[in-house]
Amino acid sequence: MARELFLKNYMEDCVWELLDQVLAQDPEACRCDSCRHDIVALALNQLPPRYVVREKGVIYSKLAMLEAQHRADIYRALTQALMQVKKAPRHER
Ligand SMILES: [Zn+2]
Repeated sequence: MARELFLKNYMEDCVWELLDQVLAQDPEACRCDSCRHDIVALALNQLPPRYVVREKGVIYSKLAMLEAQHRADIYRALTQALMQVKKAPRHER
């Protein structure tokens, strides 16, 4: 059977992983699915992608979290995105 490969932006996993930490700093922030996705999308657009090659059907162990500098960048991008979404959520308050 042919191997089916695909690309995965590993940065996406990192951003989702840090999202809850950033939200924990801001009790007033909306935590609905729409806002969470908006925050992650905005943050990802500020961050460089980190693509890895994956093979369909293969279970991969989680890559080690990015180095401290990258974490700081992700944290900053998420914090900015959170403020943007808070100012203009795409739904009624
Ligand atoms: Zn919301």
